Amino acid sequence: MVEKIFLNEVKIPETKSVYELIKEEHSHLVCSSCGKIEDIMIDTSILQAALSKQSSFKVQSSEVIFSGTCQDCQD
Ligand SMILES: [Zn+2]
Repeated sequence: MVEKIFLNEVKIPETKSVYELIKEEHSHLVCSSCGKIEDIMIDTSILQAALSKQSSFKVQSSEVIFSGTCQDCQD
C-alpha cells in the first residue's frame, strides 16, 4: 500500500500557519492558552452527512479545528 504523504498548511486563526507532513486525514486540537497543536483522528463522516443535507457540495476531505485548553493548561 502506498502511503499518501503531502505537505499540509494548517491555518489557525490568529496564529501563524504551521506546516506538517500528513499521512492520513486528521483534525487538530489547538490550545488557546499555550498554542500547542495536537493531532486527533476523528471520523468526519457525520459532519459530511450533515453537510450533504444542506448543500450539494461534494466533499473530498475535511479538517476540523477544535480550540480550547490542553491538559497542561487545565490545572
Ligand atoms: Zn496548553
